[in-house]
Amino acid sequence: MAKKKVKNKKPSKKYSKYRVEGNKLIRGKTCPKCGASYFLAEHKNRVYCGNCKYTEFSHKK
Ligand SMILES: [Zn+2]
Repeated sequence: MAKKKVKNKKPSKKYSKYRVEGNKLIRGKTCPKCGASYFLAEHKNRVYCGNCKYTEFSHKK
């Protein structure tokens, strides 16, 4: 019996925005103006939409 080698496929970059915590799907922030398909780029203390230049300051500690 020959065992098939299963290659670990690296997830595409798109999915790196998602992560699962417990049974919850945590997703990166999306742009309230452009819709759920536009992710906001995360910066140190703010998030930024490259599409409409929307910027939201986050108050994470
Ligand atoms: Zn936007």
